[in-house]
Amino acid sequence: MRHLMLFIIFLLPFLAVNGQSRATAKKAVKLMGCGFEIAAYAETDTIAWNAVEAGIKEIVRIEKLISEWDSFSQTSEIIRMAGIRPVKVDKELYDLIYRSGKISQLTDGAFDISFASMNKIYQFDKTERQMPDDVVIAAARMKIDYRKIILNPLDTSIYLEKGMRIGFGAIGKGYAANKAKEIMSKMDGVKGGVVNASGDLVAWGESESPEGWRVNIANPKNKNQAIAWFRIHDLAVVTSGDYEKYFISEGKRYSHIIDPKTGYPTSGVSSVTIFCPDAELADALATSVFVLGTTKGLDLINKLNNIECIIINDDGIIHQSKNLQINYY
Ligand code: ADP
Ligand code: MG
Repeated sequence: MRHLMLFIIFLLPFLAVNGQSRATAKKAVKLMGCGFEIAAYAETDTIAWNAVEAGIKEIVRIEKLISEWDSFSQTSEIIRMAGIRPVKVDKELYDLIYRSGKISQLTDGAFDISFASMNKIYQFDKTERQMPDDVVIAAARMKIDYRKIILNPLDTSIYLEKGMRIGFGAIGKGYAANKAKEIMSKMDGVKGGVVNASGDLVAWGESESPEGWRVNIANPKNKNQAIAWFRIHDLAVVTSGDYEKYFISEGKRYSHIIDPKTGYPTSGVSSVTIFCPDAELADALATSVFVLGTTKGLDLINKLNNIECIIINDDGIIHQSKNLQINYY
């Protein structure tokens, strides 16, 4: 089994644009269970560092709201009250659930935050495992259906049927990246920046080069070798991969992404990279294309304006959407 992986590497600028002095601050920090790298490019060193800290603070705040692992979060309360009563939540969480439902519609249910009823069934711990019993999988799958998430706009409450769960594993990092960018880019003196959540990346504004931030897509077998690169100004580049969380059964690799229609983890696709102005949508679509597979996934992406993708399959074959302008080595 080939082990393919995409690493998104971005090169940071240091200083001097058009004779003006600029400074870049960059910090690596563990948030939302993964490594974030946050960078700001600003008029002064102090402004750049303040921006980085503001970005981190924002991500910490979002994690508290959406985490299904933190028993004090509003998300956990929704799950605890499934089958009992609706839970009134912050408008922000309500809106995230609303948008998640819209993406479910767009992807014909490939993306579904109620996939989380399957959480206890699989262990994606990179080991050889037996596929759980069909009956067990079928029973948990019955609880997946985004149409059964009841949203009440009057009191911003959410109700789940008994046994349903929700989880933002496929959209939360993108949302957090968007929000950190929003806060940082509004700060006086901040010229540009990057929020990179372990390969879910959004970049905006100025960088050292008038051509924009350079992003490399590296070959996992040799991290020093990029398979492709491009320049971006205001864009999110988000990768979903099967290499961090998976298990192997009878020689086949199963990723941590669940096909809501079958309840089984997906196999066949190794990584999906989405290019899109919006990090949240990019994050959710990367997961969706995994579920849809190469043909349906490319069909969907080719229909959407300003959204492109690269799919790498298990066999190493690379597919890309119609209008992707990318430089291969
Ligand atoms: P990565 O963690 O590689 O960036 P994703 O953004 O695709 O990958 O997120 C994968 C996570 O999304 C899973 O670990 C799980 O929490 C959640 N998930 C799995 N299947 C689905 C699905 N069909 N729809 C929505 N979320 C999913
Ligand atoms: Mg995702």
